[in-house]
Amino acid sequence: MTVKGKRNLGKRNLRPAVLGGKPAFNELISITKPTITSIGWLRNRYGAVLKSGVITNAGNVREFEKRIEEYCGVKNAVAVSSCTSGLMLVLKTMNLKGEVILPSFTFHSTAHAVAWAGLKPVFVDCDNRTFNIDSGEVERVINSQTSAVIGVHLFGNPCNVKELERIAKRNKLALLFDSAHGFGAQYKGHPLGSSGDAEVFSLSPTKLLTAGEGGIVTTNDDTLARNIRVGRNYGDAGTYSCEFSGLNARMSELHALLGISSLENLERNVQWRNKLVRLYKSLLSSIPGIRFQEIREGDRSSFKDFSIVINEKEFGLNRDVCGACLEKENIGVKKYFYPAVHTQKAFARYYNKSYQRTLRTTVAVSENILSLPLYSHMKETHVRKICACIEGINRNKLQIQSLWEKNKWL
Ligand SMILES: *Cc1c(COP(=O)(O)O)cnc(C)c1O
Repeated sequence: MTVKGKRNLGKRNLRPAVLGGKPAFNELISITKPTITSIGWLRNRYGAVLKSGVITNAGNVREFEKRIEEYCGVKNAVAVSSCTSGLMLVLKTMNLKGEVILPSFTFHSTAHAVAWAGLKPVFVDCDNRTFNIDSGEVERVINSQTSAVIGVHLFGNPCNVKELERIAKRNKLALLFDSAHGFGAQYKGHPLGSSGDAEVFSLSPTKLLTAGEGGIVTTNDDTLARNIRVGRNYGDAGTYSCEFSGLNARMSELHALLGISSLENLERNVQWRNKLVRLYKSLLSSIPGIRFQEIREGDRSSFKDFSIVINEKEFGLNRDVCGACLEKENIGVKKYFYPAVHTQKAFARYYNKSYQRTLRTTVAVSENILSLPLYSHMKETHVRKICACIEGINRNKLQIQSLWEKNKWL
């Protein structure tokens, strides 16, 4: 898979749309979209499910779980209604108490699950290169109240699994992974899903493997898997006398079928995303002030997202202005993940500045990060055009900056 035409930004010497030029795209290039194929197959299987009248948590869900167990090389995969509910159930059924350490640089769902399980989220900083949880900071905040650590594989970049396992073991803590972005990623050459006490994946439409909505809990612990199965059914193991308060977090048969068909395409999709990201990087590397998330040697990112960090001084414009310029070109962008979770209204009360320090890297990265369009059926020509736009914005930075200062068009 060679990338042709490296550094060829095209002949697009056109005026940026923000300065009155024609937008690069006639229609919005969305930041992401699901790749759904096998529609004929799905129609048949949906028909059979609907005719049977058995429409939730039955044979297709079990088949999907089996396929995930094989794919991940893990003893148990339990399908749930979302990654958030999966995390809630894991935290709850493990009977954890007190504090749970997690990164602030993540999607807020990780923290919601901790709060809903009646636990206290303790936010720590991320590493400036991988954007994943900083294991040194994890060790620093461990105290007698700590019961668990949650690692997040941010944007599909595997976090430092071995190091977190070592810390958890030494301090007798539960270890979980929010692997929402994790399907398609590889840690030291292997798919994620078999580390820690449990990992929880998301199947929402923005992820590579999607079931419409849904989540998967993977674990080698049979008791934990059993409890998640009971917990997703209100805590009712089938006797109608509930063992604990659970949720309705079942997966429907229709969702499972969509998941099965999506799994068929996962490997091809992750390889294509990796190819597109190589193209993005080779084209953007000649522009000053742009840096990328580092993927450790031997690992593979799923590239659930492709996010760049913009250095305002070197690039000449800040992240917000650059993002607004790209929107004028009909290019969808997002600030994943901004604002940092510990600064959000729902979570600020858990954040103790003197104890957790200022989470400087998290704040700096979240204030300068910009996610660019990436999806599994995106064309190379789109990537080239987007990079040419960024280059054009950079080339016209002085004019754009003065326009911005005159009438803040954001
Ligand atoms: C998407 C996402 C979730 C939530 O997944 P749902 O299936 O929507 O509950 C959790 N954590 C991270 C890091 C995510 O990106």
